[in-house]
Amino acid sequence: MTSHGKAAPFLALALLAVLVAGFAVPARPALAETAPPFEIEFPQDWQVTVFSSTFGASRSGGRHHDGNDLMAPKLTAVYAAGEGVIAIIDTSSLGGRYIEIQHAGGWSTRYMHLNNDDPGTDNGDADWSLTVVEGLAVGSHVDAGQQIAYVGDSGNAEWTGSHTHFELAFDDNAIDPYPFLEDAFARAQETQAAAMRGSMRYGQGKLA
Ligand SMILES: [Zn+2]
Repeated sequence: MTSHGKAAPFLALALLAVLVAGFAVPARPALAETAPPFEIEFPQDWQVTVFSSTFGASRSGGRHHDGNDLMAPKLTAVYAAGEGVIAIIDTSSLGGRYIEIQHAGGWSTRYMHLNNDDPGTDNGDADWSLTVVEGLAVGSHVDAGQQIAYVGDSGNAEWTGSHTHFELAFDDNAIDPYPFLEDAFARAQETQAAAMRGSMRYGQGKLA
């Protein structure tokens, strides 16, 4: 008990020092990181993608949805949401064929249920060249907005509409990607609108 009695004043001083330091130096945000240090590009051809916020929704087996589903026809282009390095190309029972990209600062993104069917079939047996863009492999550097893969229905999406299950994570903790997706979608729309205004102004662009 005496040791506690002696330690108490010291601890009080130490606590005071920490508090003072806390005021002097801006503290890290309580939730570590809540937004990636790069701007998320919409990770799929936005013109044929339908999505709403589905993060946290209940799933079978007591699981919760830790990503956002981006509905689109099979073989629609899937893009890297940010610059990074491909860390995983693999298959899982629920996620099917998927890619994980490691970005700067401990952030990562995943793209799941990628295509595993030959065109016009649901054979689940397609060559991986119909899953991941040829030439890409684990260790490949990818730029933001670069096509990496094709939409599919592999894993437990086999009996739902084809879509990409997109995940955003910091330090392997899932972050709700919806606000970033919404923002990226709006920017993609605006970029096209600006391009169309430009081509109309100069009268020689193709409005394809
Ligand atoms: Zn999903």
